[in-house]
Amino acid sequence: MMVGFVSGLSCVPRRGGAVRTNVASERTERKQALEEKKKARRDISHVRVPSFDKTLRDLELGQLNRNRVSTLQINIGLTCNQACSHCHVESSPSSKETMPRIVADRLVKLTQSENDISTVDITGGAPEMHEQFRPLVLKFRELGLKIIDRCNLTILEQIPDAANFLAENEVKVVASLPCYTADNVEAQRGDGVFDSSIAGLQQLNSLGYGLPGSGLELDLVYNPGGAFLPPAQARLEEDYRRELKRAFGIQFTSLITIANMPIKRFADDLRRSDKLEEYLHLLLSKFNPSTVDKVMCVDQIHVAWDGQLYDCDFNYALEMPVRMPAGQSSEERPEFLPKGMTVFDVEKWSDLNNMRIRTAKHCYACTAGTGSSCGGALAD
Ligand code: SF4
Ligand code: SF4
Repeated sequence: MMVGFVSGLSCVPRRGGAVRTNVASERTERKQALEEKKKARRDISHVRVPSFDKTLRDLELGQLNRNRVSTLQINIGLTCNQACSHCHVESSPSSKETMPRIVADRLVKLTQSENDISTVDITGGAPEMHEQFRPLVLKFRELGLKIIDRCNLTILEQIPDAANFLAENEVKVVASLPCYTADNVEAQRGDGVFDSSIAGLQQLNSLGYGLPGSGLELDLVYNPGGAFLPPAQARLEEDYRRELKRAFGIQFTSLITIANMPIKRFADDLRRSDKLEEYLHLLLSKFNPSTVDKVMCVDQIHVAWDGQLYDCDFNYALEMPVRMPAGQSSEERPEFLPKGMTVFDVEKWSDLNNMRIRTAKHCYACTAGTGSSCGGALAD
């Protein structure tokens, strides 16, 4: 009896374990299938506009190459306290991806021996929520680099000492505020975001951010609430300055305008409203050749939270990593890393100079009108 009982019992976990494993793998397969479907739905390669490379060739603008890496853009992880409708990396509170220490240490090691890097631009998710954020800021500050934190403002309420940490380390804050009215902001970024953003801006102002002569820079970012290009940056900046000062006493350094990329959640919106073709044609019709040699990928590299390298954060969102040159792979490369080129496959950042940029039809959003980049418009 006893043996049978024990033997019977010992079978239960094995059978249960097998069932659980099957259920888990079915779930993973279902998730992968859904992801593939989503990717196919968002694919814009079929839209009837010429490839970006063809347009460059037809206009005798050559091909897009990285000149020299002077800006390191780091996506420190995808966890965010918000889940905005236009977010091109699809961050949310449930995203768990965060930069492991081994990748953060490698970034510092590569940067220590590189004179060309002048700026480190940290994005996410909400960068301040990630474990490696403060150690990286402190290390890059020791190296005398300009540090940018892409801050969503609402996180400053949730992490009470975050603003002080940024000010003490003279980190430039670049904050999204797609409008100076509550309705427009909340349509893109969620209920309650406007008031919390205003409180965050007031807190930053109280520390000197955005005030003339303080040395603490505070830039705001505008992106359109639909399938249209941003208005002229300088004119919109005047409106923001007047309205934010009048209604809330808020000051800031500059306004940055960014065009919406036809990828991820915004691509879904365009498809749902049947505006995908129209938007791509708008971007093409506004192609501005004078912006081509200023697009941000020509002097930056984007490092994802897992150490993989991309030409920009949009290529990251589209899973278009920098291609590994034939035969190049380092022995220091940890096993868990993906197959594309990573921080462990370069000896110095300048190894990435003069490499060809991977382009696709989304690149038209960088070259339309006055152009668009993480630093704002590219032409007058
Ligand atoms: S705050 Fe930024 S990172 Fe977070 S969901 Fe919104 S757009 Fe994405
Ligand atoms: S999306 Fe813009 S920054 Fe990225 S590769 Fe294309 S042109 Fe360069």
